[in-house]
Amino acid sequence: MGRLAKDDFDAALLPGIRAELAEAYRSFRRDEAAAISSWLGPDGCFAPGTYFERPCPLCGGSAADRYLFARGLDIVRCDSCGLVYSRNVLLPEVDRQRYENDPAAVAHVALRQSPAYRRLEEGKLHYLFQSLARLGARGGELLDIGAADGRLLVVARDYGWAGRGVELNRGYWDVHREQGLAVSYGAFPEDFPDDGRRFALVTMLDVLEHTVDPVAFLRQVGERLTTRGYLAVQVPNVDSLLLRLEGATNNNFCPGHWNYFSAASLQKAGEAAGLRTLHQETYITELDRILSYDREKIRQAFGRELPIEFELTPELLHRHLQGYKLFTVFAKE
Ligand SMILES: [Zn+2]
Repeated sequence: MGRLAKDDFDAALLPGIRAELAEAYRSFRRDEAAAISSWLGPDGCFAPGTYFERPCPLCGGSAADRYLFARGLDIVRCDSCGLVYSRNVLLPEVDRQRYENDPAAVAHVALRQSPAYRRLEEGKLHYLFQSLARLGARGGELLDIGAADGRLLVVARDYGWAGRGVELNRGYWDVHREQGLAVSYGAFPEDFPDDGRRFALVTMLDVLEHTVDPVAFLRQVGERLTTRGYLAVQVPNVDSLLLRLEGATNNNFCPGHWNYFSAASLQKAGEAAGLRTLHQETYITELDRILSYDREKIRQAFGRELPIEFELTPELLHRHLQGYKLFTVFAKE
């Protein structure tokens, strides 16, 4: 695979791909909405006895004002450290059941297996491994937490990595077996006991936002890294221009996403867990969805000095870390 640029796997920039993805996304969104509503009472809040409230999971501080309310979540921005998080989270046993018996899981597996999705995802994974190689991460033992269909583990082989994964959803079992992938089922770290093995790279794509105590989680991940090992994290970007524009209607605001990181708050979380930030960038523009908004609204949401006649390019968006996904590489000292 030749060297990839981030625009090469950006659905908004590739003609026709949205239409190819539409059907798989329709089924997934429908099942996801049904799953979410099953956790909500008639008032739109989590049902009594299924959740608890927590202080800021990054600094322990409190937040005075609600940031937004969406699908049962009471989302606030911490007054002290700036982390955006949901004050109320489902009880651990309720939350775990959601993943083990997720009614949207079948549609999610189907979405990830659809040809257009695979093409984009594989492009992104090649890009990530090429980026990691430039940072010095060039092969060895890899652990992928939240392995999903194991695509990352397959692509990793091309870059010299011998990978294994951890995944909660057994719906991927057949896919793993067909690909000959070593995946343990369950949650990290509870179901992945420390056998003394240390990894030169741990990857976590769309995982950290699901954790109730992200700093403790990062610390536990750090314990499994070799000295000078790398941790590659992808999360939805709360500072992305599309989230700023869509607010509570954006699908990222959903039960299960308990933390909403920006580049700054993710860096703080890593440092609180004893990790050093090596690299941060954003990818995926969602530019087509952004450009459906009024130009003045876009200019306001961008939040930086933009001339009236601005041209919103992928390069400009990513330069200000306003892409849809945030990618961060940490190193263990
Ligand atoms: Zn805080």
